[in-house]
Amino acid sequence: MCAIVRCMDNLLEQYNDMVTKVNAMSDEELDNLIKQGKCPYQPELLLGQPIGQHHCHLCGEMQVAGIKHLPSDLDINKHS
Ligand SMILES: [Zn+2]
Repeated sequence: MCAIVRCMDNLLEQYNDMVTKVNAMSDEELDNLIKQGKCPYQPELLLGQPIGQHHCHLCGEMQVAGIKHLPSDLDINKHS
């Protein structure tokens, strides 16, 4: 097995751990995290997967596989 494949396997393992943790959380716990802008979804763990852009299944924001969770507060007009 080449090093890159091993690395991707490792990421997938971390992704599965993340999914397990999220599944163990109560809806209330998840809601609170998302309201604080701390959505526990980690799309960066999908690096190398043929997924690309997708909606976060937790907070609904558009995400890109392989890139850290994009903040839900991208609306710059909100602060002006
Ligand atoms: Zn999210």
